Amino acid sequence: MSEQVVAPRIRGFISLTAHPEGCAANVREQIEIARRGSSGELGNALVIGSSTGYGLASFLVTAFGYGASTLGVCFEKEPSESKTATAGWYNLVEAHRLAEEAGVQVETINGDAFSDEVKREVVRALRDRFGPIDTLVYSLAAPRRRDADGTIWNSVLKTVGEPYEGKLVDLRKHEVINGVIEPASEEEIEATRKVMGGEDWRDWVELLLEEGLLADGCRAVAYSYIGPEVTAPIYRHGTIGRAKEDLEATALDLDRQLAAISGGAWVSINKGVVTQASSAIPGVPLYLSLLFKVMKQHEIHEGPIEQIVRLFADHIGPGRTPTLDDEHRIRLDDLEMRDDVQQEVAALWDQVTTESLDELTDYAAYRHYFEQLFGFAVKGVDYSQPTEVDRQLPQPVTS
Ligand code: NAD
Repeated sequence: MSEQVVAPRIRGFISLTAHPEGCAANVREQIEIARRGSSGELGNALVIGSSTGYGLASFLVTAFGYGASTLGVCFEKEPSESKTATAGWYNLVEAHRLAEEAGVQVETINGDAFSDEVKREVVRALRDRFGPIDTLVYSLAAPRRRDADGTIWNSVLKTVGEPYEGKLVDLRKHEVINGVIEPASEEEIEATRKVMGGEDWRDWVELLLEEGLLADGCRAVAYSYIGPEVTAPIYRHGTIGRAKEDLEATALDLDRQLAAISGGAWVSINKGVVTQASSAIPGVPLYLSLLFKVMKQHEIHEGPIEQIVRLFADHIGPGRTPTLDDEHRIRLDDLEMRDDVQQEVAALWDQVTTESLDELTDYAAYRHYFEQLFGFAVKGVDYSQPTEVDRQLPQPVTS
């Protein structure tokens, strides 16, 4: 037992602590939204990157919205003598507790999804305890990848070609600054593709297909982002954008392969939301602060759970046919990319300075959502009280 008062220790775009009760409350709220917005049943789901952000939302929608037996893969740190666990760990502890209460089968494999070892563990779990899967969600956002031969690929967030010079928000000082992002080398472009492109998704799908662990009609989806002109030099035209192009090209190929089992593969372009991964992308926090302001004014604001509820209800849930754009992609960013929304954001982007940050943008909400990722600033949680930090994920029952 290790009860303690847990305070936030946020450094820029990382938090050194996570609050178990706050994370649990966030998960309960997301489950309620998932249940309200979903109807029908799904058999088995596999979610890779299941502990935070879009992957957690997917795990909660399949398990609680559609009652699917759901296996998740993530890379989180459990609690230790001196440290709280990471937020994703506490998120899943609560998800497991509530799944047991609801009689839904869920399991988590915590380890490196790029590794053969974790892939084999998933194959064993599916063969022994789940059966072939109907839905595969690939939602990894990783900084690096280690290959079986020991090669390490580090993903970078840089431009391709020209350097970027423009507005950024300094998350430590809360100031709008003029930042410069240097262009990546060819090696860095390739390393980012190896980490965030389609290769690992393809490995997963082909392995499970070979093993006969994709059910007839299986639907595979991976997540991508496009975003506005103002972040394009860093995002869509930068190293990460190159990797996403590779992911999107992989979807076309996997779609052809899955046609053999009457299934399909798609990339879903999701809207920009606050997650651990997006906070690290230069320019994105400032853009999101403006976007939230505008989308709230239009009453069309959405977070990850609302987006994934919509993905299943409108596109890949039971009995649904995905609506695709000309490039075979599902567009959940339709509201974000509306002309009026983008024009208003672009006009505010030109005007915003440190002095007008609070007035012109929803930076306060951005920071609030960021704290909430780690279980802080959550309504109803008494942060002055000690809480049990040594919470464990249940181990699968193996025979
Ligand atoms: P996130 O940081 O919240 O989640 C990343 C997940 O990947 C976590 O579950 C983490 O444990 C897992 N993970 C990381 N490395 C791993 C590894 N080696 N092995 C196993 N699991 C690992 O990220 P997110 O923002 O939800 O991003 C998920 C996907 O959604 C990404 O493809 C991202 O590009 C895409 N997306 C994000 C946004 C956004 O605004 N956040 C918008 C559109 C699309």
